[in-house]
Amino acid sequence: MSDYQHVLVAIDFADQSGRILEKARDIALRNQARLSLLHVVEYLPPIDSAYEPIASAYPAIDEEALLARGEKTLNEMCRAYDLDQLKIPLELIIQAGTPRYEISQCAIDRHCDLIVMGSHGRHGIRLLLGSTANAVLHDMPCDILAVRLEQN
Ligand code: AMP
Repeated sequence: MSDYQHVLVAIDFADQSGRILEKARDIALRNQARLSLLHVVEYLPPIDSAYEPIASAYPAIDEEALLARGEKTLNEMCRAYDLDQLKIPLELIIQAGTPRYEISQCAIDRHCDLIVMGSHGRHGIRLLLGSTANAVLHDMPCDILAVRLEQN
């Protein structure tokens, strides 16, 4: 029996995302596992208060456009790394929200047994506070592979 049956890879489109994707692809192939790619679109909702939904002074954010852009970029990465040629089940997921929460929730919903992510991504500063990888590691019971990325 293979080690893993469903691999989730979290992609934030930072410079070294390709390395993370290659790792996840190779593991999924070796195990003949399902492979799900997740990109989380992060944005602040257009309200000024967390408690009262009053109109924001900032221009409204077009969530649909952000999700569509994320989907396009994820599709392009798939083609660039030949994921569409693989003979394993593949799913692309674009979700709006907070990466830490959405990555964990996605893995729970889909019964993923391995999450592949970067040791750090676009939020280098968050290393001081606890990175997304660190947060997911503490949230989830399944295996997590944090691909060690070079500091930019
Ligand atoms: P961070 O700790 O936020 O710098 O990122 C660490 C890793 O978490 C990244 O290499 C990604 O694998 C994952 N990650 C962070 N943000 C996102 C996002 N918006 N969508 C998907 N994965 C993410």
